[in-house]
Amino acid sequence: MPKIQNYEVIDNGLIITSSSGSQYRITKSACSCKGFGFRRNCGHYTEAKTLGLLDLIIDKPISVFLQSPYIKAERIKSIRYFLTKQKIDFTEELLIALEPRMTRETRPEQLITWATQENL
Ligand SMILES: [Zn+2]
Repeated sequence: MPKIQNYEVIDNGLIITSSSGSQYRITKSACSCKGFGFRRNCGHYTEAKTLGLLDLIIDKPISVFLQSPYIKAERIKSIRYFLTKQKIDFTEELLIALEPRMTRETRPEQLITWATQENL
């Protein structure tokens, strides 16, 4: 059961929506949930790390630093929306794998082909 249902990249961190619908803030070194406070680890943080979401976090405010992590997150969001609309099953890992392949010229049919391939 995935711990993270959705996420958003914000300045210096991520806001994640957990499987129970609660929202927490994850930074490169911590999660704001109670479990992390007690154990210095939690399912949200572990999963964010596994999915590579921690790599989306930059240490400076997005507005005055690199734009790319923000664009990357926006692109992942739009791929998620597109695949959902096409009723194609996908994982967060797939979204992360597809994102770097996307360019302005990528056709929707191409995205569907990539998304339905077994091995990327
Ligand atoms: Zn947590």
